[in-house]
Amino acid sequence: MQPNLLNATNLRIPARLTAPEPGWVISADVIVVGSGVAGLTAALRLRQRVDRVLLVTKTVLSEGSTQWAQGGIAAALDPADSADEHLADTLVAGAGVCDEEAVRVLVSEGPARVRELATLGMKFDRGPDGEISLTREGGHGRDRIAHAGGDATGKEVSRALIAALDLALIAVKEDPGIEVLEHALVVDLLQDGDSRVCGVTLHVIGEGQMDGVGAARARAVVLATGGIGQVYSSTTNPSVATGDGVAAALRAGAVVADLEFVQFHPTVLWLGEGARGQQPLLSEAMRGEGAFLVDGDGVRFMAGVHDLADLAPRDIVAKAIVARMAQTDTDHVYLDARHLGKKFLEKRFPSILARCRELGFDPVSELLPVAPAQHFASGGVRTDLDGRSTLAGLYACGEVSCTGVHGANRLASNSLLEGLVFASRIADDITSRLSAGDLASADPLVRTEDTTLVARKERTAVQRAMTLGTGAVRSADSMAHAAKNLQIIADSTPGSTPDPDSWETSNLLHVGQLLTAMAALREETRGGHIRSDFTVRDDAHWLGHIYAVREEDGSITTSFHPITTSFHPITTSFHPITPQVL
Ligand SMILES: Cc1cc2nc3c(=O)[nH]c(=O)nc-3n(C[C@H](O)[C@H](O)[C@H](O)COP(=O)(O)OP(=O)(O)OC[C@H]3O[C@@H](n4cnc5c(N)ncnc54)[C@H](O)[C@@H]3O)c2cc1C
Repeated sequence: MQPNLLNATNLRIPARLTAPEPGWVISADVIVVGSGVAGLTAALRLRQRVDRVLLVTKTVLSEGSTQWAQGGIAAALDPADSADEHLADTLVAGAGVCDEEAVRVLVSEGPARVRELATLGMKFDRGPDGEISLTREGGHGRDRIAHAGGDATGKEVSRALIAALDLALIAVKEDPGIEVLEHALVVDLLQDGDSRVCGVTLHVIGEGQMDGVGAARARAVVLATGGIGQVYSSTTNPSVATGDGVAAALRAGAVVADLEFVQFHPTVLWLGEGARGQQPLLSEAMRGEGAFLVDGDGVRFMAGVHDLADLAPRDIVAKAIVARMAQTDTDHVYLDARHLGKKFLEKRFPSILARCRELGFDPVSELLPVAPAQHFASGGVRTDLDGRSTLAGLYACGEVSCTGVHGANRLASNSLLEGLVFASRIADDITSRLSAGDLASADPLVRTEDTTLVARKERTAVQRAMTLGTGAVRSADSMAHAAKNLQIIADSTPGSTPDPDSWETSNLLHVGQLLTAMAALREETRGGHIRSDFTVRDDAHWLGHIYAVREEDGSITTSFHPITTSFHPITTSFHPITPQVL
């Protein structure tokens, strides 16, 4: 089926961010940008067969969403489970717009990647038979969440993931074939005259020669820069999640897809009006154990909204909370866990209790103020099954990418798995292309025209515009308002000093502008895209992806790409994907 051009947006995105000319140059075979599950996996696997891998990361190696993951990693490891069942659950969660072939790859290659992680040293919980213990999360029809530290606490799971990460970090640090640059923020992509990506410009807070803005050149660049959470006033994502990879790829002319599908977690601790940035997550498991939502008058408002009441899918709960906040003119509701008792809460949720108490709330005796906050970006840099973007030489994996596995709504614990599976595929693809002479080195064009920079002081204004206009529930009016406010920011910030804060703020603006434009086009409610003016899913018109691409003149072209595949069991039909319209 052919893509349809959608209404043009009025948006204009510049070609690059204002930055000093590179004062130094380094080179490698492959550059990996980001050190979460996706970047580390790609770097470690590439290193097995490529001579020089450069891993750059904005702060320190361990920083990123990966270290905050609580639940675990989903994979059909139980003999009674199957990749087909994992596939079916993922497609349901994705609300009709997953790319089925990409999901097939995820669920069929996932178990091997999880076992490799165990080989690497991750201490998964195991049963008496020595097999990895599995638990269940919302949306999964089977026990398939590999975890560590017992079922008892999210903290134990998190500790096990960090332990594996630490081992990966040590392996990376001890390997002379991988050069690691910490405190290195990638600003933009370098491209030759044919738009082939052949490196990055980056700002390093370093020592000696390699300090300030430089250029790193390579035959392939892998973006693994994580999510976009900081586009919003409050998010569960850490401070490094400023959408840098999506913004840089967009400016370079790569196709970006599905940005409108943003998962908001319904129960994030509300720390007051002025609270900004990363906020503490109150796990779904609390509601799983019997905690429930009430409004300021103590009314349990989820009853009657959905059969599963407080345990309804995330998007439904988030939507109901936003509606209740509007009705009662407040900016939060409450989670009531008091009836679960001190003994149970302390045993079952020790880390959540500790964090709440640190912040002055005692779940044993008090209601916990909660509000939805941004949690996960399903969209990003559009890739095929080997992680290739639409630009030669550019790959993307992990949360920055849009492989199509999440559709409109991510199934719980599928994102760490996505990072593992697709980073590995990228490493394999780059390796074979390098040995086939397929990824030639190229000389970047020196470009200084069409640059921009947004002052760091505008960060809060961008976040506010996005939260109010293109947040958990949107409408044409709210998004028009957001687009207008974002454009005012874009038009009014000449003369800023280039520094990491202003580069990040510029990226937040560009991602926010594009996300708002794409969300305004999709006139329906689906998964993480909830509209108050188009409240139902509209398969007749919107069963597919929206793509956006920056043209040479800075304008944005958007197009609609219908989903063309239908479910068929993995056992009888597994084919490599042919990307739809890339
Ligand atoms: C609180 C929380 C709980 C979660 N729980 C789970 C769970 O239980 N299971 C699950 O599957 N998923 C979970 N997720 C989602 C999952 O953790 C993420 O989607 C996943 O870890 C993303 O991995 P990544 O490698 O793509 O990005 P990240 O881990 O975010 O890493 C991105 C890296 O890129 C670097 N970077 C960013 N910009 C630049 C730049 N300009 N230059 C250089 N480096 C840059 C960052 O510093 C970082 O190192 C959770 C997320 C959060 C926030």
